[in-house]
This record gives sequence, structure tokens and C-alpha cells, in this order.
Amino acid sequence: MTALTAPRHDWSLKEVEALFALPLNDLLFKAHSIHREHFDPNAVQVSTLLSIKTGACPEDCKYCPQSGHYNTGLAKEQLMEVQKVLQQAKAALETGASRFCMGAAWKSPSKKDFPVVLEIVKGVKSLGLETCMTLGMLDVDQAKELSQAGLDYYNHNLDTSPEYYDQIITTRSYQDRLDTLSHVREAGMKICSGGILGMGEEETDRAKMLIQLSNLAPHPESVPINMLVKVEGTPLDQVEDLDPIDFIRTIAVARILMPESHVRLSAGREEMSDEMQAMTFFAGANSIFYGERLLTTANPQADKDRQLFQRLGIHPERRDVPVDDATHQAALQEAITEQKNSKLFYDASQASSLSDGAERERKPCGLVV
Ligand code: SF4
Repeated sequence: MTALTAPRHDWSLKEVEALFALPLNDLLFKAHSIHREHFDPNAVQVSTLLSIKTGACPEDCKYCPQSGHYNTGLAKEQLMEVQKVLQQAKAALETGASRFCMGAAWKSPSKKDFPVVLEIVKGVKSLGLETCMTLGMLDVDQAKELSQAGLDYYNHNLDTSPEYYDQIITTRSYQDRLDTLSHVREAGMKICSGGILGMGEEETDRAKMLIQLSNLAPHPESVPINMLVKVEGTPLDQVEDLDPIDFIRTIAVARILMPESHVRLSAGREEMSDEMQAMTFFAGANSIFYGERLLTTANPQADKDRQLFQRLGIHPERRDVPVDDATHQAALQEAITEQKNSKLFYDASQASSLSDGAERERKPCGLVV
């Protein structure tokens, strides 16, 4: 039996640049071969994303419409009530998501909001979903409390290379990000960390970012690779488009460097053709956000994704930790009953009348988790 390609944490820049320089077919063959060693090549992990607190973020990430430094016309929203979040988590479960990701536009969680966040984690977990959050920087104690509440994953992106970083963010340092990732790991949670392509960086920056991620030991379990979504009013709204082939190359190199990680095709996917998405799956991407509208059964993006999966013969990956069906149903029923008894009960049928625009505003961190 052939030995699996073992994860490495010592990739040199020369080696990684050599991978980027391979003829595309050679690079894809290498990446896909490694992908098949570690994963079912026809399974894609499906997550759902919800912004639980939107806009007015004190950070100055130049790609992000939620930054308070730029005027993008984004509607700001306070932290959502626990029951409203649970309603949306349930809708996500019904559309086939196995993981529920929640984002809040904060520098770090405040003392006032943190207990609510912990309640949200417990509630979503009780529905039988894996939980993921992105809340900004965490200290050691916050990471521990989130872990104890049942948070499975914490998302905190490195965004780009250390060298290009200050062109993108000035309000926190690269080291701040690495420190938060280290607290998350020490608290026993899984790490979701990746970056954004198409922000005007060079190929060498993409190589250096992937080296940073692959230097983390163990590797992040989830590596989101985002294509910049240009939002009017942000400093990057006029930046030159990235060649889609360069995006696919980066996915392939990420797969080679981090053979056991889920590589997530993340922000920017809506703008990608089905053919481009198919190529990224071949290159090693095996995680997506499923649809964007979660409040009702009417979820056109999820339908589109289902059709794409069908055309490609892809199926959603099963949950890592299978939940006993009876337990799961009981938890679900209990959560629904609690919601109905609560004055905060959220009527999804009313929510369905929200305009597309209103829905689109509910995206955490510039949709870059
Ligand atoms: S990416 Fe996240 S941290 Fe940066 S401005 Fe947006 S919400 Fe704030």
C-alpha cells in the first residue's frame, strides 16, 4: 500500500514558488492525486454562514464593507438575539448544512456581548450542527470559554503574506492574528484560517501566505481561500481582477501544502462560473458555503448549488461526528418549542419578505470566512 503524503511544516519559498510555476496540468495532477489520498474526491463539506453582528467594525481591513472606516452604505445591526440565531441555524440544518458559521464584526468580543455569544454556541450545538465563529481577536480566557461552550472551529484569517499585510490592514498586526490562532489551538478548538486573493498582491505573497498557514502545526483544519469581492466605497473597489487561473493554481498549491485540511472555496464563489468551480474542486477545494439565504425554504443559491453538485456527481460530506437521529430530532423539537414560547420567536415567513439586498447585507467579515 502506498504511504499517504504526510503533512509538512517546513516548506521553503523556493519549493512553493516552484509549485506555482508548474505547467497547470502538472500542478492539477499533483494536487488532485494528493487530494484523492486523503479525501473522497466527490464529497464536499457544506457550511452555512450567518452574520450575527453587522457593520461598524473598528478595524480597517481594506476589502471589508463592514469596516467603520469606509462608507459602503451597509446597514449596521447589533448582536442578534439567541433565539433568532437558532431559528436560522435550524433553517441551515434543513438545507443540508453540517456546520453553522457565525460572524460578528468586532475587534474582539466585549464583556457585555460575550455571555450572549456563549449561549448562541450552546444553542446551535444542541441542534446537532458543528459550530464555527469569527469574532475578531481572542485572549486566552475567551478561547477557553468558547471551547467549553462547545465551539468546534474558530475562524481567523491571515488574509495575505506578512510582507503585504500592512497594505491591507493597519489596525492590528500579523502577530496579533497568529497569537489568536495560538490561543484557539491551545483551548482545543479547530482552526479555520486562510486568506483573500486578488487584493493587488503578487504571486509570491500568495506563496508566503500559504507557507505561513502550513507552518502552523497542526495545519488549520479548514483553509478558506477567498476571491476578493469588490465593494464600492472600500479602498480595494478598483483593484485589478485576478486571473481565474491564478486562483485555481493557489487552490492546488494549498491542497499540496496542507493535504489533510479542508480547502474552502469561499467568498467570490457566486461570481465564478460552474466550470471554474468544477476546476477548483478538481484542484482540491472540498468545502463551500451552501447558499446564502437561510430564512425560508426558498433558497435559490442553495438550489443552484444542488444542481451543480448533481451535474458534477458531487455529494455533501457527512458530518464528522454523526449525531444519533433520535437525539438530534429531540434536540431540534426542544429548540423549536423553546423558540415558539419565547417572545423573541422569529417568524421566518415574515423574514422571507426581506429584499435580496437586505439579505445580502448579512455577511460577516466581508464574507471572507
Ligand atoms: S474583515 Fe472582520 S475585522 Fe476586518 S473590518 Fe471586516 S468585520 Fe472587521
